[in-house]
Amino acid sequence: MVSSSFIDFLSKELFAIYEEIDEKVRQFKEKTDLKCKRDCGECCAKGKVGISPLEFIPCAVELFKRGELQKYYEKAKKREYGICSFYVPYTLDMKKGYCSIYHLRPATCRLYGFGFKKNKYGVYEPVMCDYLKSEFLKLSPLEKEDLPLPDYDSVMVRIISLYPPLGSKTLKPNLALITALEKVRSFSFSLFPHYDNESHPNHEKYGQNEENGVKG
Ligand code: SF4
Ligand code: SF4
Repeated sequence: MVSSSFIDFLSKELFAIYEEIDEKVRQFKEKTDLKCKRDCGECCAKGKVGISPLEFIPCAVELFKRGELQKYYEKAKKREYGICSFYVPYTLDMKKGYCSIYHLRPATCRLYGFGFKKNKYGVYEPVMCDYLKSEFLKLSPLEKEDLPLPDYDSVMVRIISLYPPLGSKTLKPNLALITALEKVRSFSFSLFPHYDNESHPNHEKYGQNEENGVKG
């Protein structure tokens, strides 16, 4: 069984990995001058990116602390296979928009567009949208030499090894979020002992956990 201190530990470990990813992506961008299209949010709007529930644990813990866990749980439940609950589009075609939890976003979202995976021949290939891939391919061999490539697979192996039951399966963003929120909610009282059944505004929902069979 997962304990509350373990959820806390996972969150801290994941944040440390996320900082490393951000630094590697920053170096890669600096060397290549590659950047996303201005205001673009197409990859979030398409919702094609697979995310593990584990990657959403730091976000779920933060939402609990803000008292917004239930709000996002219900939102994600309504959208399950739809657009990510954190994406805020501001054009009708939804291609322009932003992530409302940018600093808490999963590893996959941090790497998408700037990560690399080895193919079956052991050669690194970009994990990018068509636009960034075409920009990357325009770089000369000299510009591509000695690039610090953010390695998608090695990051994911580290993340999965923290807790395989939550890390080894990737899901649509809302489904991954739902699982992470359920996990954090089930340990919320011992994780943050100042919340209790009597004082929490959502005590009827937060007061019971997966072990006694009640969810949300
Ligand atoms: S990765 Fe591509 S689709 Fe996603 S925001 Fe950047 S430019 Fe847009
Ligand atoms: S968490 Fe943020 S970056 Fe990731 S898919 Fe959702 S809106 Fe996009």
